[in-house]
Amino acid sequence: MSDVHGNTFHGRERMSHFTSTLSDGVAVLALNVAGESVNVLSREVREEFAALIDSLSANEAVQAVILTSSKPDVFIAGADIDELRSVRTAQQAESLSREGQKLLDRVQEARFPIIAAIHGACLGGGLETALACSYRIASDHPKTTLGLPEIQLGLIPGAGGTQRLPRLIGLRAALDMILTGKPLRAKRALSLGVVDEVVHPSILQRIARERAMEFVNGTRSRKDGRPRDAARVLLDDNPVGRSVVLRKAREAAKKRSGGHYPAPDAAMDAIARGYADGPVRGAQEEARLFGELAVSPVARELMFLFRATTALKKDTGVDSNVQPAAPLRSLGVIGAGFMGAGIATIAVQHGVPVRMKDTTHQAVGKGMAAVRTVLRDRVRRRRMTRREMDDAMSLLSGTTQLHGFGRADIVVEAVFENLELKQQVLHETEGGMRPGAVYASNTSTIPISEIAVAARRPENVCGMHFFSPVHRMPLLEVVRGTMTSDETVVMAVAAGKLLGKSVIVVNDGPGFYTTRTLAAFLNEAGQLLDSSVQIEDLDAAMVAFGFPVGPVTLLDEVGLDVAGKVTEVLREAFGSRIRASDTLRSVLADGRTGRKGKKGFYKYDEEGERKGVDSSVYDLFPQAEQVDLPAEEIQERMVLALVNEAVRCLEGGILRSARDGDVGAVFGFGFPPFLGGPFRWTDSQGLTNVVRRMEALQDRFGERFSPAELLVTMAARGERFHPDDA
Ligand code: NAD
Repeated sequence: MSDVHGNTFHGRERMSHFTSTLSDGVAVLALNVAGESVNVLSREVREEFAALIDSLSANEAVQAVILTSSKPDVFIAGADIDELRSVRTAQQAESLSREGQKLLDRVQEARFPIIAAIHGACLGGGLETALACSYRIASDHPKTTLGLPEIQLGLIPGAGGTQRLPRLIGLRAALDMILTGKPLRAKRALSLGVVDEVVHPSILQRIARERAMEFVNGTRSRKDGRPRDAARVLLDDNPVGRSVVLRKAREAAKKRSGGHYPAPDAAMDAIARGYADGPVRGAQEEARLFGELAVSPVARELMFLFRATTALKKDTGVDSNVQPAAPLRSLGVIGAGFMGAGIATIAVQHGVPVRMKDTTHQAVGKGMAAVRTVLRDRVRRRRMTRREMDDAMSLLSGTTQLHGFGRADIVVEAVFENLELKQQVLHETEGGMRPGAVYASNTSTIPISEIAVAARRPENVCGMHFFSPVHRMPLLEVVRGTMTSDETVVMAVAAGKLLGKSVIVVNDGPGFYTTRTLAAFLNEAGQLLDSSVQIEDLDAAMVAFGFPVGPVTLLDEVGLDVAGKVTEVLREAFGSRIRASDTLRSVLADGRTGRKGKKGFYKYDEEGERKGVDSSVYDLFPQAEQVDLPAEEIQERMVLALVNEAVRCLEGGILRSARDGDVGAVFGFGFPPFLGGPFRWTDSQGLTNVVRRMEALQDRFGERFSPAELLVTMAARGERFHPDDA
């Protein structure tokens, strides 16, 4: 055996990030980025890769190359986001993109075929690298995912992806991958033509070598491609067909992004340029647009969120050095209603056995059916196979007794939102649990320490506040009561991560962080309705600001009765700052509960489909005369009410950091991601400016807009919430 430089050696030669071996004319390059859990294409890795291609090219013994990874479940996860975040000008980012393109052009044009043997995440720059190879084999494993997620960071693929992917799989399929950023599983990637072959992980390396040998002995040629189907030929080779597809895609993207995200249009510009003027000009346009986007405020905020959620993955949830938690082996769920079933769903989906309890067999059955419905839908959308669904369902069992709860590492309670009931359920359940197990309540408002007063082991009690629908919402808010131990927090955080959530840990208090901050926001909506602002105007103003739905829609969705109860709890705690809205009170008194009762601020048909504002609701408003407020004024009041409460949560120690507050607001209740979160937004506006604007509102509307002390102090000192990201 000899190494890639032609020197004979025994065994393997270890370079800093790649391992290279050569036998029978086939060199195997295995990437294993030193000191990192995943392979990312940092400058150092790129330089080493380029040097390796040079030396392989100079070595006549090399006739084919296999590119693979020796990390457990990652091929290449993408570019180095930190490197990109440190870039200050569009020109710098453009040249990063040009360098990446050139490197991959060399991969494509190398003297020898390069075969990508892919197991694990193959994302962003990782997939772009694979696309430049002559042949791609992926392992048939759930961990193997292929995608171009750049759009989710406010970017576009910058190493030739906007040019190679459409040529490989056709315009329509490429647009779908690039504009959604969603990764594909191996089988789907095969059917679209992203990869050439899918094999069992155990034979991936052997098949890669076989294919390499076929290239070497001439039975396979680098020109071999898959035949394109007729529809694709008609579309891709026809400028009129292409422009229709692109126009439709642009319209759909605009609708989705509300005009707040420039990357989808940029991706389509780069793709269109490639079709019109060829891949060289297309790549130039790609790099230019990549450069512009990389320094845009939107991408900077989305990259911040990416970094923040990545950092949370490594955060144990406590500041002390507690032993890492043992993996969750068994979960108990009490209450098989909407939330309980949701929590059970994600648990079985992640391979955790679940015992679910409710008061009647009927309620248990309903909960189990709800789990099945979500999993079936995943099978229908090809996110999971039927077999995986059956395996997951076999992990779920239901009961009306406490049998089996002694095995649970964590029991999550999701019964009705009522303090006495929650205390009673805790008391009953604790007796059936093993001493070290964690008891977590999914309450969205009630302080954990109040639930835990009756506990025998209050140190094992915490909050695990999931959001609805549980299988879609990415956040978990773990709540630490006054008696909760570090071990309990660590266990709850680790479980949340295992269930696929971004987890923030907050201290106890009414409404914790997310409910409290959202309540301040909805409270302001109530005040605006009291002054007879139109429902449509209020919702439209906040959607225009970037929220996924308007506050009145949200009230109808959450349930007006639930919102009313939350307001009560928070009003007791925070006095006049949260004022019950007269409108909300009289709308509730009229028997309206929102979507679930098919009657709220909006009208609903029998199927629960929304049918516009219910104009009869205006008769219940305290002030008959309608008021027209400019959208900017509505946004100013709504957002500053929210921001002020978020800062108070940081000031009062509910939040551990501004980072958690930003992640919590974006992933918990839909604060616009392109603004980064309430703290990032405040930094971008300038603290002094925000204080001044709050004081102006305080003059008009009173105490609730009195700026949080922390905000005033930090503004006076010229500080920011995220000082490292100026
Ligand atoms: P739900 O009414 O859908 O379900 C509650 C379930 O608890 C019912 O099936 C009921 O039969 C069962 N139950 C009641 N008493 C019980 C007992 N003693 N033992 C076992 N089961 C019992 O309610 P939900 O919307 O799922 O809410 C549950 C909890 O989750 C509440 O604390 C709520 O505040 C919280 N939460 C709800 C949402 C949401 O959007 N719905 C979001 C976050 C948190």
